[in-house]
Amino acid sequence: VLKLTKKGVYVWGKWAMFPRLVHGFSTRILGNMKFGFGSDEEVRKNRQKFAKILGFNPERIVEAEQIHGGQIAAVGKTDIDQEIKGADGLVTHGLKVYLFVKVADCIPILFFDPMRGVIGIAHAGWRGILAGIGANTVKFMETRFSCIPKDILVGLGPSIGSCCYLVPKKRALKFQKKFGKETVREKEGRWYLDLKKAVCNDLISAGALPSKIEVFSLCTACCPNFFFSYRREGESLSGETAAVIGLKD
Ligand SMILES: [Zn+2]
Repeated sequence: VLKLTKKGVYVWGKWAMFPRLVHGFSTRILGNMKFGFGSDEEVRKNRQKFAKILGFNPERIVEAEQIHGGQIAAVGKTDIDQEIKGADGLVTHGLKVYLFVKVADCIPILFFDPMRGVIGIAHAGWRGILAGIGANTVKFMETRFSCIPKDILVGLGPSIGSCCYLVPKKRALKFQKKFGKETVREKEGRWYLDLKKAVCNDLISAGALPSKIEVFSLCTACCPNFFFSYRREGESLSGETAAVIGLKD
């Protein structure tokens, strides 16, 4: 279960058993985390607050460019303070390398292999999910870092729910074909997508264990006090929240 701390950050309760692991999802309480909304100064301050609450150095983050694709990149200490072009997912076994994504409805996915000390992060919107970003990350951890998929803990953070995610029928049918009937809901001729379910099925197809996948049930579009939502706010969107994962030494 994802727990909201008093300071406005969500963390997986179960993952507290790993003392070196730093992870969490910011909420709107901490403000916008993406450069381009508001002033840079404000974003820097918000990121510092988030980092202080979780105990990581905000100057040691690595970000993905986030182009809504399915590409994963291996990163390390030399990538700190960089944005990795073309990537929506990042994996590292470096210490004090904090992987960071920004979201407003898309799914922030955290990965952790406690056996090998390998961590990953992904930004998963519908295009990236169709490109297999969930399974891609598991496979990347397996082939590049010798992880065993069934060892990997996965957490799907705050994102849009099937309650609010109305999509064109054509897109719904693509998801149904690739990820199964249960990822799509039809109501009075309107089609809704369950992105979280699609990612879960994709992760499981790559060998992840259902019992090790955590899913946050709240919907970003339904909870304006806690989350930004592109679907709800459209052009007036004023920010994005962030997810982070890293290992301290
Ligand atoms: Zn909703």
